[in-house]
Amino acid sequence: MDSTVSKIINKALDGGLLTAREGIELLSWDDLSDEAAAVRLAGRRFSEQLLPQAEIHGQIGLNTGLCPQDCKFCSFAASNRVFTEPSEESLETVVDYVRLLEEKGANAIYLMTTANYDQEQFLAYGRAAFAAIENGTPLIANIGDFDLDYARELKRAGFTGVYHVIRMGEGEFTRCPVERRWDTIRAAQEAGLQLGSCVEPMGPEHALEEIVEKTLITRDMNARFSGAMRRTPLPSSVLAKHGAVGYARMATIVAAVALITGQGIAGNCTHEPNQLAVFNGANLLWAEVGSNPRDTKGKTEENRGWTVPRCRELLEECGWDVLEGPSALFA
Ligand code: SF4
Repeated sequence: MDSTVSKIINKALDGGLLTAREGIELLSWDDLSDEAAAVRLAGRRFSEQLLPQAEIHGQIGLNTGLCPQDCKFCSFAASNRVFTEPSEESLETVVDYVRLLEEKGANAIYLMTTANYDQEQFLAYGRAAFAAIENGTPLIANIGDFDLDYARELKRAGFTGVYHVIRMGEGEFTRCPVERRWDTIRAAQEAGLQLGSCVEPMGPEHALEEIVEKTLITRDMNARFSGAMRRTPLPSSVLAKHGAVGYARMATIVAAVALITGQGIAGNCTHEPNQLAVFNGANLLWAEVGSNPRDTKGKTEENRGWTVPRCRELLEECGWDVLEGPSALFA
């Protein structure tokens, strides 16, 4: 076992904030090495210490269509030409989804749209969703960029927080400038909205430097949770040629993200839900309904479909106790 890796792991477990160089060292080893195994075990223990009960967050996709922000990894990107006919869930359907997710035990509920979705209409959906929530489950927005006035509107509509990310390849494989993403994050924080974030969407071509840089960004933005998500290859995307990161690699990355983000970030999510990442330190999974940027047709529950009970079963199989009731991460 390499002594440098041991020292870095112990520094993280003792509450020290890792540097970029230390984060890269944790990820530099073959996944079958003693060092990577030590990173995974430490990631699991650290995650469990910070958040003793794992969580399941439910996400509702409101619409499909060709989004002009054109993120190459997304099935709504205009250039990927997947959902050429836009579609939208009715208010009634969204309210039914909210009730279903809460009844099944989702600890937080997200409303997600494409970036150009009408802001007033989203507030109307938010108000209806908030009114349908019975047990205090926090409502989170996963939408495009916005300013401070709109952040305050979100708060007034009943949203507790937003999910926002400086994504892998942001500004290069998306039409969203990094500074605009930061402006949105600052606006959300100024309005009193809490943040969820993640290191995503990750492909095999990404350098360790960028993975760690994006991980440190989630630490810097003081998110309630971070984590790591692999990119789902879309056949029509220019990124398809790179394929997908394997689950074994993702497990080491998810564990390292927990150690790098440190004691201030208790949540560590992964996507797609899988045993390797959950066993090695992911403590937050996603149940999804409606539209989804990783699908190429219809509603996600008819495709890849992770339900709340299925997520719970996976977490419990991997030795996690699962929280019942509103999210502790967004408390
Ligand atoms: S990720 Fe969001 S902003 Fe980018 S293309 Fe998809 S919907 Fe649009």
